[in-house]
Amino acid sequence: MEKKFVEALTSQKDDFSKWYTEVVLKAGLVDYSPVKGCMVIKPYGYAIWENIQKILDEKIKATGHENAYFPLFIPKSFLEKEAEHVEGFSPQVAWVTKGGDEDLFEPLAVRPTSESIICSMYAKWIQSWRDLPVLINQWANVVRWEKETRPFLRTTEFLWQEGHTAHRTLEEAEEEALKMLFVYKDFVENDLAIPVIAGKKTENEKFAGALHTYSIEVLLADGRALQAGTSHNLGQHFAKAFDIMFQDLDGERKYVWQTSWGVSTRLIGALIMTHGDDYGLVLPPRVAPYQIVIIPIWKNDAEREKVYNYVDEIYNILKRYFRVKVDKDEEHTPGWKFNEYELKGVPVRLEIGPKEVDKQEIFVARRDLRLKMSYKKENMVEELSNLLDDIQKTLFQKALKFREENFHNVRDFNTFKEIMDTKRGFVKASWCGDGECELKIKELTGATIRNLPLDWKEEEGKCVLCGKETKIKALFAKAY
Ligand SMILES: [Zn+2]
Repeated sequence: MEKKFVEALTSQKDDFSKWYTEVVLKAGLVDYSPVKGCMVIKPYGYAIWENIQKILDEKIKATGHENAYFPLFIPKSFLEKEAEHVEGFSPQVAWVTKGGDEDLFEPLAVRPTSESIICSMYAKWIQSWRDLPVLINQWANVVRWEKETRPFLRTTEFLWQEGHTAHRTLEEAEEEALKMLFVYKDFVENDLAIPVIAGKKTENEKFAGALHTYSIEVLLADGRALQAGTSHNLGQHFAKAFDIMFQDLDGERKYVWQTSWGVSTRLIGALIMTHGDDYGLVLPPRVAPYQIVIIPIWKNDAEREKVYNYVDEIYNILKRYFRVKVDKDEEHTPGWKFNEYELKGVPVRLEIGPKEVDKQEIFVARRDLRLKMSYKKENMVEELSNLLDDIQKTLFQKALKFREENFHNVRDFNTFKEIMDTKRGFVKASWCGDGECELKIKELTGATIRNLPLDWKEEEGKCVLCGKETKIKALFAKAY
């Protein structure tokens, strides 16, 4: 066997951004594509996305939504119907102007989001209060022309789900927007083990065309924030632009109230940047492509047969309960494999040699804490199941602790600026509520209001920039 070791990664402290790029490439999540700004998601990365989809799709359906699919192309005139919407998205829209050799009569946008095409259909489908609510979700790709891109976090084409609903009343739409925000919060915290702060976006930061927007915000290991999901109460903006009307119980024709909400492959970027370390990825068991990898260790043919038989026996038991992979590749040394699966973030590694066979045990290494232990074969299913649960919980607790350590209550602007210039993190500060003041803060510090957290109570204070009396507390950070 050759003595080749996995090349060391750049450490997070030395260069976090370089570490990130190396991890996504070396762990086999993505590759650069021939198309600028677009990424190829390789099988290992795509398997994470499939697990995300599977779990989230169940939650979306459990809350009464159905999946459907709408066209990739959107007529230019549709996109232009809602004024704020077109203004917000037009700098990023990719256009199709030719079909074969012929110029198109009307250019088609490659969807940057699907409100307009879906609303045009809802106008046809919705006639009466009996048709409401409409609760539809779509899993799709979207395109937003980006100048600067980074795998998963910002790419020209990305994958996501977008929910689009229509309701009889404003209250119902508001309830829906909040319900889905909390579906996302539950999913990101429990399945991805990432703590989030749920709140309302400011007018400056809301979705183009929404009445208001809610978001969940994550603090990443380099002290920057990432918006991990959004849910919009669209009010009647699109209903009026697309003439989506229904006859209400009182016989009157009224506009519907709408919502839209989405999360994307960006979540994978959040996963990597929240849990990863200097050895590579650390994946939460719930979404890891395989939760356990088994590595046989042997020196000669006699040992090999003995170990392989035992490994097969273990594998056949474990595969009924867990996502398991056995690596019998004989080209690489066990040492090489240990590094490789650490890099890939596999939650649990079993190292099985002749000693384990003799003792009828398994030797276990957990990726997150890099601890090792042995379990008896007869108890292994229960032990491993508890271990995976513990890893899932430990990852969340560790991320929460990091967020708390990097959370700053700030009163004066100099401290605010100094934090943003150095260690970054989340800052809680008073804000007067004025959009101009918010923009000025951004200009001076690079920090934006991530959201106005829903569970923060009103507090008397003075705006961190202008000093005006206010009760609003905002969550600030430099964001991706
Ligand atoms: Zn102010």
